[in-house]
Amino acid sequence: MMHRNGLRPSAQRIAVLSFVANCRTHPSADEIYSRLSGKFPSLSRTTVYNSLHALTDASLLRELEIESGNMRYDFKPQPAHGHFVCRKCGKIFDTPLPRSLADSLTPGFCIDCVEIVYRGLCDICNKQ
Ligand SMILES: [Zn+2]
Ligand SMILES: [Zn+2]
Repeated sequence: MMHRNGLRPSAQRIAVLSFVANCRTHPSADEIYSRLSGKFPSLSRTTVYNSLHALTDASLLRELEIESGNMRYDFKPQPAHGHFVCRKCGKIFDTPLPRSLADSLTPGFCIDCVEIVYRGLCDICNKQ
């Protein structure tokens, strides 16, 4: 996947990309660093940040600025979806986009990406 997107697949980049692609919780750079540094003792915070930037530039990761100043990361090659942020537990859930979204666009405009963030309580927190 990295070769196809013009990126040299270093061990660190592979580790960062597969962690984000498999963990589905939209981790922050600090979370990625603390989870991976156990497995890769030589990994530095700078390497994680550099890998995240390179993978984002190569369209393999998507940056989500859901809370300002705390970038979260999502695996980009997946169907477009929105996000739901729970104000109690802080988890970020994937949500399907409303079907009618493109219909509301001015004719002649073309969408590259859609960012929809819902905020509220998730089903578990809402029950408590
Ligand atoms: Zn919740
Ligand atoms: Zn997502």
